[in-house]
Amino acid sequence: MTDGRDEDGGVRYEVVAEAYRDLEQASGRLMLIDRLAALLSQTPQELLPTVCYLCQGQIAPEFAAVDLGLAEKLALRAVATATGVEPVDVVAAVREAGDLGQAAEQLLATTAQDREPSLEVAAVVDTLHQIARAEGSGSQGRKLDLLAGLLALATPLEARYLLRLVTGNLRLGIGTPTILDALAQVYTGNRKDRPVLERAYNVCSDLGLVGATLASGGLVAVKELRVRPGNPVRVMLAQRLSDASEIVARLGGRCMAEYKYDGMRVQAHRTADGDLELFTRRQERVSNQFPDVVKLLQTGLGPREAILEGEIVAYDAAAGELRPFQEVMFRRRKHGIAEAARDVPVGLFCFELLYADGQDLTESSYLDRRARLSEAVTLSDRLRLTTALEVSTAPALDAMFEQAVADGSEGLVCKSTGPDSIYHAGARGWQWIKLKRDYRTELADTIDLVVVGAFAGRGRRRGTYGAVLLAAYDPETELYQTVGKCGTGFSDAELASLPARLAPLTRARRPARVDSRVPADIWFEPSLVLEVLSAELTLSPNHTAGWGQLKDDAGLSMRFPRFTGRWRDDKEPQDATTAQQLVELYRTARRAPAG
Ligand code: AMP
Repeated sequence: MTDGRDEDGGVRYEVVAEAYRDLEQASGRLMLIDRLAALLSQTPQELLPTVCYLCQGQIAPEFAAVDLGLAEKLALRAVATATGVEPVDVVAAVREAGDLGQAAEQLLATTAQDREPSLEVAAVVDTLHQIARAEGSGSQGRKLDLLAGLLALATPLEARYLLRLVTGNLRLGIGTPTILDALAQVYTGNRKDRPVLERAYNVCSDLGLVGATLASGGLVAVKELRVRPGNPVRVMLAQRLSDASEIVARLGGRCMAEYKYDGMRVQAHRTADGDLELFTRRQERVSNQFPDVVKLLQTGLGPREAILEGEIVAYDAAAGELRPFQEVMFRRRKHGIAEAARDVPVGLFCFELLYADGQDLTESSYLDRRARLSEAVTLSDRLRLTTALEVSTAPALDAMFEQAVADGSEGLVCKSTGPDSIYHAGARGWQWIKLKRDYRTELADTIDLVVVGAFAGRGRRRGTYGAVLLAAYDPETELYQTVGKCGTGFSDAELASLPARLAPLTRARRPARVDSRVPADIWFEPSLVLEVLSAELTLSPNHTAGWGQLKDDAGLSMRFPRFTGRWRDDKEPQDATTAQQLVELYRTARRAPAG
């Protein structure tokens, strides 16, 4: 391993900027891994966590909520200050170049063409933390000065990425599993070790911690990493099936059927200092928005240190009535929190205990965790456990489903009680299978797909897109695999706004993680998720979703896809419907009698 230190013993930020540039141009996943591995192998151990975050396009783990998100206007002024170019001319350069990063790079290429690289990674990241922390009166000026100070020392290439990073526009298109592959390649010499790193990442959500542990203690130490209150655990997710007997069979002839509440999933962490934080599925902190839930747990949760999961549901406790999902979303606000809490009272329906006073329970069986959960929680009007019943036949499961729906819940989540029933952090496995109302009453089901490309419109749609190219996610290969074009269901206004909405994601070439046999007119970095309804899935030689799984040389495509009008801003592209789920939907539809 070569050490990338400069003569002062630090590592130049230029090394990272060059890696960003190469990663942006890489055309395949293996190239991404090799380039990341080259960067990581040059990184001295003490800097490894920082460089791991930088590879994720961050300066701290996601859940640390370090908010760089500098307003573009302010960043623009910093560029003007650092280059001595008038702000109006910077605006013109941005218009020309397409983004502020590139505009600054071009401006610096004129004003600072002979500048030698001098910025060091540690100092850059330290300054970025100061920018993120600055608040209160005078903070805007301070942020501006700090950023302008960095830009005054930056080379054109460094400026490009610094600006994208501070304005939240650094989209490298690299998934964390790719970085884990590179870490494995560098430190164990074998990418096959990635699952060990992945487990560790899934339980602590901190890539820097995983990297540091690997570098200092090897794989053995990584295997020892445990969940820890304060670090959100990546949530376990469910598969879905629409037939009760199939579910019972899949779960080994017996399962625990729990009501599926339609609300907002939270993971509550109480740390040793007594603080209680609520994290959403996307690891956002929401305790401020739900002071009533925090209070419920502060009184009702036994273990001093704990990690618990549950669903926050709008709930009329007096009537015992579950209210619709939209009502709980009313509580996601910055202002008027006390009034909102009064107008929309909620309950917490707990379904998991992952940690209690020094004990990691994620490797315990479902029944053990459930027993610990019911010991840990003192129930009250609004602090409840999910209704659950052990079931071993299809008719019993059907009856429970009817009851769940009659009681106002969405359906059931059926959970394995077998020896494999550990909490699989970050996985969508077959240990949890959901059965929802809409799967049974409607023929077609909606799917959530990622926009990866577009086709130029003709006729009435000239000047905008005629259709978008949509993809499902394949977590195995980390690729976005196409399932078809969709041009129906968009209003005229929606269509007209598409180019602007997608502009920041535009790429000159097909991004490395997009697996497509169709040549799109324009490519996008996978980011936006939208909901689609399709009449049917069919085998197709043109689309790559589930390629070869149902038939050699064919993937799946949608017939008559239609945008429902719903953008799934709550989902990351990796949360889109997976290729595997489409394969299952296809199989299920073939088995079901024609409706
Ligand atoms: P879906 O969002 O349709 O994939 O369904 C999974 C979601 O259902 C979870 O992420 C939870 O937010 C929610 N949920 C509701 N009730 C339960 C339950 N009893 N067990 C697990 N998840 C539940």
